Amino acid sequence: MTVPMFKKFKIEAYKPGKSKISKATNITKLSANESALGVSPKVMQVLNNKNFNLSKYPDSKARVLRKAISNKFNCDFNKIICGAGSDEIIQMICQLYLKQSDEVIVPQYSFLMYRIYAQIVGAKVIFSKEKNFKVSIAEVIKKVTKKTKIVFVANPNNPTGTYLNKLELLELRKKLKKNILLVLDDAYFEYMKNNDYTPSLDLFKNKDNVFVIRTFSKIYGLASLRIGWGYASKKIIDAMNVIKPPFNVNQLAQVAAVEALKDRNFINQSVRHNAIEANKVKNILEKIGIFSSEVTANFLLLNFDKCKFSANYIFKKLQSRGIILRSTKDGYNIKNKLRLTIGSIKENKKFISAIKLILN
Ligand code: PMP
Repeated sequence: MTVPMFKKFKIEAYKPGKSKISKATNITKLSANESALGVSPKVMQVLNNKNFNLSKYPDSKARVLRKAISNKFNCDFNKIICGAGSDEIIQMICQLYLKQSDEVIVPQYSFLMYRIYAQIVGAKVIFSKEKNFKVSIAEVIKKVTKKTKIVFVANPNNPTGTYLNKLELLELRKKLKKNILLVLDDAYFEYMKNNDYTPSLDLFKNKDNVFVIRTFSKIYGLASLRIGWGYASKKIIDAMNVIKPPFNVNQLAQVAAVEALKDRNFINQSVRHNAIEANKVKNILEKIGIFSSEVTANFLLLNFDKCKFSANYIFKKLQSRGIILRSTKDGYNIKNKLRLTIGSIKENKKFISAIKLILN
């Protein structure tokens, strides 16, 4: 039988943080930056008690959710678009803006989906060098050509955990030509306790050439329901609504996200938990020769250069004990480092005792 020919892509497919290990049953997954405290109990209560009419299509415009987002973050309802994860927002930005031979600038170690979606629509991905695993504004600006359409920056970035402070973000927008869209990904903004940090949405709400991305997958603990949103000028959002799959965000996700936004206690608890546990884990690891950068989001990038074992060795040893971290060698090409998601107290304890045993 003949397989009709499809387009061929020279793209390294995204490899998600592992979630399974053959044979192991009791798995601790610290590989995908999911919420340490899971889902808000109030959200679970609504999901358990509500009668969903699953035979009907969901609201294609996610009106109730967009209203809730606009109230909570004091922003314009008409400038919000929801997606099946912020992933889909990134995909739609690329579909809307890019054609063959257009250029997209992504910092060297930035989140992988920017380069993947840009390449799928035929654009050329240009990497800007980073300094100490942090985005360099000068290097981004150096890469701008007449063909540059978009610059993507996650702030803070996954997997490096570094961020541009408020002044740096403003500087980046100012130095970048006005006709280039600056996409700023706020995926982890809720976790940020750093004094000089400002979420992109707060800084650029009224800027027509900035597109802000947010997600319900991290602090809200709704990764499995796939829900995220974008915020941009009404012109961009109107155009994006033309290419958006009509029923991209399912009804359960819309209802859960509305409830999640209401539960301020749960969010505060998650932020507190992360700050305490991330600092605790970082300090313990430093005493045994494993260093990481400043605490920012809900993960740490662990550096094994001063450790007697390599990142790869530790990765495998942890895995044999049912603990999964994210290798940064694949895709990101960051050597001798592992990304660790901050888990629950129990998970972090299990991780720490395992790593101590491995080192001894
Ligand atoms: N942006 C960044 C920076 C991320 O780390 C992730 C998840 N790993 C996403 C976007 C995508 O998240 P989601 O599609 O679940 O909203």
